[in-house]
Amino acid sequence: MMSVQITCKNCGSGIEVHPDHLSDKAQCHVCSHITEVHFTKEHEAGILKECPVCSRMDFYQQKDFNRKIGVLLFVIAAILSIWTYGMSFVVLYIADFILHKVLGPVVICYKCTTNFRDVSNIEEIRPYDHEMNDRIVYSDHDFKGKPLSH
Ligand SMILES: [Zn+2]
Ligand SMILES: [Zn+2]
Repeated sequence: MMSVQITCKNCGSGIEVHPDHLSDKAQCHVCSHITEVHFTKEHEAGILKECPVCSRMDFYQQKDFNRKIGVLLFVIAAILSIWTYGMSFVVLYIADFILHKVLGPVVICYKCTTNFRDVSNIEEIRPYDHEMNDRIVYSDHDFKGKPLSH
């Protein structure tokens, strides 16, 4: 089943919800702020076409791995490699590989940063695009699910 993590607009906390077309509200457990959600039968089946929070259709997928931890591990491996003749990079590569295998991809809405896990149409979701992100976040552009074209 698809799991959804909404970012609370009021306090920034993550609100975990499961798609249910009968529920139209998600309450933040930290500040009690209510976020309106629009789940459909499609969402219940794990198919993501339209964001249940902001109704946009622009998403990206990335490995479900905290980027800060990734950078930190890389720095540690770089420092250790001085003494281990690069072996730490091999270990980092293997650890990274295993983590990605275990964690799988996460899909994120450009507009409202809602996270989706166990999306069944994952192959339709493209990786992060910096230009699209800038245009959606700063210019409020709506790509309507279409890839960026020049
Ligand atoms: Zn909140
Ligand atoms: Zn959204």
